[in-house]
Amino acid sequence: MGYRLLFTMEGRAPVVHLALATTLRLRCQRCLEPFGWPVDTDVRLKWVGGPLEAERLDPGFEPLLLPEGGLVNPRDLIEDELLLAVPQVPRHPFGTCRADWASSLEDDAPRPQENPFAVLARCKR
Ligand SMILES: [Zn+2]
Repeated sequence: MGYRLLFTMEGRAPVVHLALATTLRLRCQRCLEPFGWPVDTDVRLKWVGGPLEAERLDPGFEPLLLPEGGLVNPRDLIEDELLLAVPQVPRHPFGTCRADWASSLEDDAPRPQENPFAVLARCKR
């Protein structure tokens, strides 16, 4: 995983520029086989005092609320971005899933969904 964190000031507000590129291992919810999910994100997070300030944020910025204690852990920032990048229902890109050709044999019973945090736990190892 490659990432870059840049801490700057925008006026009087601290700003974190986070660029992140990696490939997450997810499990396709159609065929249950693992597959790689590329993540390439580039965000600018601006410190805000509360939800009201977050709504008034300039375009191009994402809100960053100060955690209790006032210290930001870079690992938490990266974790949040990775969680946002995980699709709600992970599945192979269209046309590449082996369940595509087998779909006529498949029943329509709902499948248990994988906890997205389990994906992150694997990623951290
Ligand atoms: Zn699949």
